[in-house]
Amino acid sequence: MPICWLVSEEGTHKPIQLPHLQTIVLGRGPETTIKDIKCSRQQVELKAECNKGYVTVKQFKEDPTGRQSGTKRPRENAPEDKEIQKEGRSMKAPKHTEKVSVSVSHGEATKNSESVGHWSQGLKTSIQDPKMQVYKDDKVVVIKDKYPKARYHWLVLPWQYIPSLKALCKEHCDLVKHMQQVADQIVQQCPDAGSLRFRTGYHAIPSMSHVHLHVISQDFDSPCLKNKKHWNSFTTDYFIESHDVIRMLETNGVVTVKEGTSELLKLPLRCHMCRKEISTIPALKEHLKSHFPR
Ligand code: AMP
Ligand code: ZN
Repeated sequence: MPICWLVSEEGTHKPIQLPHLQTIVLGRGPETTIKDIKCSRQQVELKAECNKGYVTVKQFKEDPTGRQSGTKRPRENAPEDKEIQKEGRSMKAPKHTEKVSVSVSHGEATKNSESVGHWSQGLKTSIQDPKMQVYKDDKVVVIKDKYPKARYHWLVLPWQYIPSLKALCKEHCDLVKHMQQVADQIVQQCPDAGSLRFRTGYHAIPSMSHVHLHVISQDFDSPCLKNKKHWNSFTTDYFIESHDVIRMLETNGVVTVKEGTSELLKLPLRCHMCRKEISTIPALKEHLKSHFPR
């Protein structure tokens, strides 16, 4: 039977195993690394049906006396859809809380995150899937991002398995430059290249294994962009320009990530176009329409 894991999309906590048909209560605490006191220690109840590949999520509702009941959260407060990944296919998981910012993935029983069946290894599967590929040559492959955070969002990956930026060294300079050239080519072929700006770069602390260059249009007009971490990962220095990676490799032979980079994900939301601070993701999305009318 597959094993089910509760996985932070942003890698803010270790995967939490959800044993088959056992009720697990989660919220603020060391396991989820959530410290915000607006999140209860018992925020959600999760029950995995590992054989069927879904998880039932119950949101505890706080009553005015501060006690909690196990009723489901009203739809209007329901947060983002989460995908459950199973052998490369994905299906919708039940709605659950925004405060416990997690996604649910599961694969066949694996011992550690380096194993092929683990969620973080999903790119290895995707690059082999002809339906995901938009370009390939003898060195690299380009795929569509499975959860695009903008109108156009691709990933450029080398065929050679390189786990992350940290594993890059001087010998990889030519490969990384080639990845950049292919990214530029993909952008040029985009029908909206004339009207949209694109950026190409890497997440300083990626969640997915197998080094991947993001090629992303700067409209951020996508239902998959759901939270502050998504936003800040593409609009702060958490996003390292491909040219900077090449320069670091050429001059130092390594890619260095500044201390405190993970804190950038917690910065207030700020429009990347006009620098206006905006308090919520829905308000930000509304604001973005003024910069990027359809
Ligand atoms: P990061 O590791 O933070 O640089 O981001 C990983 C990217 O991979 C995100 O933009 C995800 O939407 C995307 N992603 C996650 N799983 C898959 C998959 N199986 N196939 C393609 N893209 C994926
Ligand atoms: Zn703006």
